Amino acid sequence: MLEKWKQRAIKMNLKKAVIFFLITSFAAAIGFSAVLYSNFHGRIFEWEQFAEEYKRLNMSAGDLALIAGCGIIGIIIGIWYWLLVLACVYRKSYRMGVNTAFWTFAALIFNLAALAVLYLYAMLKGTCTNCGRVRSGSGKFCDRCGNLLKKECPQCRQALDISSAYCSNCGKKLDEKES
Ligand SMILES: [Zn+2]
Ligand SMILES: [Zn+2]
Repeated sequence: MLEKWKQRAIKMNLKKAVIFFLITSFAAAIGFSAVLYSNFHGRIFEWEQFAEEYKRLNMSAGDLALIAGCGIIGIIIGIWYWLLVLACVYRKSYRMGVNTAFWTFAALIFNLAALAVLYLYAMLKGTCTNCGRVRSGSGKFCDRCGNLLKKECPQCRQALDISSAYCSNCGKKLDEKES
């Protein structure tokens, strides 16, 4: 079963998943706030004195149920968010070809911080533009998909990164057609 979820995380449409999450949690938050407001409307003043005189507050079972409902919705949204970040980290580490178990575990504890570190690591090391694999050493091709990572300066034969616009050795402007 875990294998199935791993596959889903790799294949998921990240943009869609994030947008769906934002819309749903936003709608849930607005909806419940509206219900809460209409329920407690007219008794706001009592809430303001809640800290001092909470015993005088006239809470019905319905009020408590509403608050509990909000709490549950909040927890569900929180867990959903956590899992979404977890899926992002798993997917990113899978694409990068680094230890997925380690990074997913890190995300389970540090959540967004783990994702940020992972992206930073990818940025520093550089990744294959085709498959996302972390580049190893100064290899000319990606060792997973065979994508060309380096090009040669036509003037001085210096090996350059595929995205270079100018040669770092002789300063020649590189024609995009040659890359
Ligand atoms: Zn690649
Ligand atoms: Zn050159």
